[in-house]
Amino acid sequence: MGSRKSLAAVVVGREQPWQVVEIDVSPPAAGEVLVEWAAAGLCHSDEHFRSGDRVGPGTDAAVYPMLGGHEAAGVVAEVGPGVTRFAVGDRVCASFSPTCGHCRYCVSGRGSLCNGNKDFMSRGQLADGEYRHHLDGEPLYLMAKLGTFAERTVVSDRSLLPIPDDLPFPAACLISCGVATGWGSAVETAGTRPGDIVVVVGCGGLGAAAVQGARNAGAAAIVAVEPFATRRDRAKTFGATHTAAAVADARSIVDELTWGQGADRVILTPSVVTPAILHDGLAITGKDGVLVVTGMGPFGETPVPLDIGAFALFSKQIRGSLFGGLDPRAAVPRLAELYRRGLLDIDSMITTYPLADINAALADQLEGRNVRGVLTMNGPR
Ligand SMILES: [Zn+2]
Ligand SMILES: [Zn+2]
Repeated sequence: MGSRKSLAAVVVGREQPWQVVEIDVSPPAAGEVLVEWAAAGLCHSDEHFRSGDRVGPGTDAAVYPMLGGHEAAGVVAEVGPGVTRFAVGDRVCASFSPTCGHCRYCVSGRGSLCNGNKDFMSRGQLADGEYRHHLDGEPLYLMAKLGTFAERTVVSDRSLLPIPDDLPFPAACLISCGVATGWGSAVETAGTRPGDIVVVVGCGGLGAAAVQGARNAGAAAIVAVEPFATRRDRAKTFGATHTAAAVADARSIVDELTWGQGADRVILTPSVVTPAILHDGLAITGKDGVLVVTGMGPFGETPVPLDIGAFALFSKQIRGSLFGGLDPRAAVPRLAELYRRGLLDIDSMITTYPLADINAALADQLEGRNVRGVLTMNGPR
């Protein structure tokens, strides 16, 4: 089949609003799949690239115009030569971190760190570095080689994961990034154990899932730290036992809960991790406690004031977390089962918007009026 048209949300430059435009999509090449997206979530990783705070100085020309989106679910509409993992009609979700299935990370349950994904934020298709998506003849940069803020895009089969037939697209969409990342940050990376005192800093999509993960893992108390009152209230419905507007305000709550010992697990899931949040997070982490850094910081190196002695004297740990430390291929069915059994409430996290309303969805997200905005396309249901 020849090239197709697609409505798509594109940003033409740093700090510009999203524009919903018609783009041209070329047919899938070897190892590629054309996906009709049904639902695409607004993750803050896209916002880092729209605002430009994760775009390196002097590299704007390599990023814009950009087709955003990397958290999504949809249906396979066409497969390129050599694709055996997927067939037309298969329900899939995106995997922003492509997995090859055979490198040392993939075969040891750490697929989100796959050696094949080291260029996943670069230009061009994963398969061959060429371009299949154009706006008025100009090649588009695709977020995480997915570009899911569109009715359809062509992606590598390594950037897709199968989803169960009974999993609704919006829930599958969140599992593909935000829910897995947040839930895994609490359960896998932080290693929350029954009876732990857990603090979750930032209660958007990642934090709401982290709170639920901590609850699943048996935390005795969960302190949700979030500047927006509406999200603090929502965090309670997901399992938070206490709330605070800032990390400094959480200190007295944690002291009271732990007789001054500090929290067992502190999980940083704000939209931007600042040096102050890292500093304050480590300060409320207790002896042998774990501070998990899941949210992104600004581009490049940032000086952070830390009490270095706290690592040796109190055995404090700081751990980074990509995709919640989960293996993408194993995580999707596992999280789908928790959702199916009512142990993971994804539906209450979602506010849906038509693709055309992406800027309203983003404004609601940045101003705390939703937990996670999900764009719905007019295609597969
Ligand atoms: Zn994401
Ligand atoms: Zn791999």
